[in-house]
Amino acid sequence: MAMRTLGRRPAAETRKGADEDAWIDVAGLEKTYTPRRSEPTTALKGIDFRVRRGEFVSVVGPSGCGKTTLLKILAGLIPHSSGQVRVSGREVAGPMPEIGMVFQEATLLPWRTILQNVMVPVEVQGLDRGTHRERARELLTMVGLDGFEEKYPSELSGGMQQRAGICRALVHDPAVLLMDEPFGALDAMTREYMNVELLRIWRQSGQTIALVTHSIPEAVFLSDRVIVLTPRPGQIAEIIDIELDRPRDLGVMASDRAGVYVDRIRRYFNAAGVMD
Ligand code: ADP
Repeated sequence: MAMRTLGRRPAAETRKGADEDAWIDVAGLEKTYTPRRSEPTTALKGIDFRVRRGEFVSVVGPSGCGKTTLLKILAGLIPHSSGQVRVSGREVAGPMPEIGMVFQEATLLPWRTILQNVMVPVEVQGLDRGTHRERARELLTMVGLDGFEEKYPSELSGGMQQRAGICRALVHDPAVLLMDEPFGALDAMTREYMNVELLRIWRQSGQTIALVTHSIPEAVFLSDRVIVLTPRPGQIAEIIDIELDRPRDLGVMASDRAGVYVDRIRRYFNAAGVMD
């Protein structure tokens, strides 16, 4: 796959609202779904955590414990029931331009080319098309999609579409990137490649990243901290500092130190009798 290193862009410190140290600040968060035709479901309860500017945090937990719910709340896509949620110093009350979101599926618009899809946030936010088109092309090259700019989503594999979805989330250089199991549909080798690429993008951009993943080794490899949730209603079982040196390459995952973290997280799921 073609790779190109992006030029260094402004550090996180120069971004809007950079005086806030807790870039994501969640306190006493609860979310109860109240469907019209069925019983209420409390998905999240008593969630407290802070993510520092430029930090990479992953969220792991058994299926149905509220991981996607948490990310959607952070993204301002759904309301929470109680508690406080702040991103880059502001109360989240709806989608914010400084947040980029990558969903489990690429959700590209089938009638738009790949480049046009990547440009959607630029158009929605009324940003300068010329400079961002360059950025879009750079990102597509970096994820191995140069030459596919004018193709339509149906002409690309699922993995390629997902990589385009990641470019779309990054094109406007959001200060916060929220990723919901973004690599789940990729084959193992592409997934590892994307993990390494994501770390490279993160190192260059200084973004604050919150990632939901079903893969414990992936969470350990990528993160500064891993938030482990309990079975539903999701509560925080533990927040684990991953003290592995950076920059990291895939060899890190073969190390004993990484293995200790993976085992420690896995024990929660074994104890609860659930594994994703
Ligand atoms: P996870 O991402 O950890 O698998 P989710 O956040 O998708 O978990 O879901 C958490 C819980 O909330 C689940 O029990 C799920 O059934 C419930 N839930 C999610 N979305 C809705 C919804 N729109 N209406 C009612 N219940 C929901």
